[in-house]
Amino acid sequence: MSFESLGLAPELLKAVAERGYTEPTPIQMEAIPVGLAGRDLIGSAQTGTGKTAAFLLPILQRLDENPRPGTRALVLVPTRELAEQVLESARAYGRHSNLDSVAVYGGVAMEPQTRALRKGVAIVVATPGRLLDHMGRRNTDFSGLEVLVLDEADRMLDMGFAPDVRKILDALPEERQTLFFSATRSGDVDRLAKRALKDHAAVEIGRRAEVAEGVEHVLVAVEKSEKRGALAKLLEDLPQGRTLVFTRTKHGAERLARQLRREGNEVTALHGGKTQAHRNKALERFKSGKISVLVATDVAARGIDVDNIVMVVNYDVPNDPEIYVHRVGRTARAGAEGVALTLMSPDEWLLMRDIEKLMGRSFPREVVPGFEPSIPPLQPEDRPKRPVRRGRSVRPRSGAARRR
Ligand code: AMP
Repeated sequence: MSFESLGLAPELLKAVAERGYTEPTPIQMEAIPVGLAGRDLIGSAQTGTGKTAAFLLPILQRLDENPRPGTRALVLVPTRELAEQVLESARAYGRHSNLDSVAVYGGVAMEPQTRALRKGVAIVVATPGRLLDHMGRRNTDFSGLEVLVLDEADRMLDMGFAPDVRKILDALPEERQTLFFSATRSGDVDRLAKRALKDHAAVEIGRRAEVAEGVEHVLVAVEKSEKRGALAKLLEDLPQGRTLVFTRTKHGAERLARQLRREGNEVTALHGGKTQAHRNKALERFKSGKISVLVATDVAARGIDVDNIVMVVNYDVPNDPEIYVHRVGRTARAGAEGVALTLMSPDEWLLMRDIEKLMGRSFPREVVPGFEPSIPPLQPEDRPKRPVRRGRSVRPRSGAARRR
């Protein structure tokens, strides 16, 4: 899936490319078309999922299509840091569009904000308290407001902004589009959503995968150039079951699938470079058990929902620990057991330690006989300095890998 296929205008595609984004994230795939269609949206999304672009891109496009003076979009955020971040993104994505923006938050002088608001800047990113202050002084004119975003609504509630947000909502035109984002859901969040939204598309997106108790994490130390050989051997040695292999790139997924297939494995690749029909077919074959190994990119895999995955393989160590959590969340669902196997080359050992830090646990380091790395693997930080032992060889140690 590409940004082009989401229906974004050339100015925005250009800005997105300049930011270095090649593929939309799952939340962007789901939210951008809804946003462009002018519909209300409720999204469960954490920071780091790409949610900011998911709401800003459709807003920028819709406002730019019909130029009008005055304030047209309001983004409510809990903190000044987030306000600055959203402002920065709005300016970056909007650099080829003609829309001005301002961030309005407390702790700094009112005056520059007052000037921008009175001028009728198109996009206002604000924390609730300071915004109410400006509204009380009649610095704002929201009579022509077209879009409202509530970003990190749960955090706004946690910070005690509920009364302020309600007052703001009451002062906005009823006829508007509202995009509502919250990392978590609760009674309070739902009540606020009900008040803010009309007929919304109920899309639950970007939910954080939890790592289940039943996952056995295994790290395999191997040279980068030997990863494919080591994986082929592991697939041969470990009893078969539904296995999902993650690679960072489409190209990597395609190449790995091809090579594994050459060695007699039933493998297929799933990534954004394939047509939807192709992807559906690959997924169908994986689900039905016709093929047991699926090689996928993160973006391609996040949209899919397959149970009974006995093993997740990280063909590379993700450079963001959240991605590790996401990938590994694919196995050991609903109380089942599963294995998360990570192939880590020496350049990735430090990244892996960051992941262990996030998880608050360290995992055993092992090696595949015949594919030992030239230097012994870096051990977790919490082990005292001592001569590093060589890793053990990989054997399925629990019943997990044996299950089907
Ligand atoms: P957010 O969840 O909006 O805070 O975004 C998290 C990070 O992901 C930010 O650094 C964005 O610049 C980045 N980002 C957003 N969309 C994409 C994308 N499609 N591809 C790569 N990075 C992205």
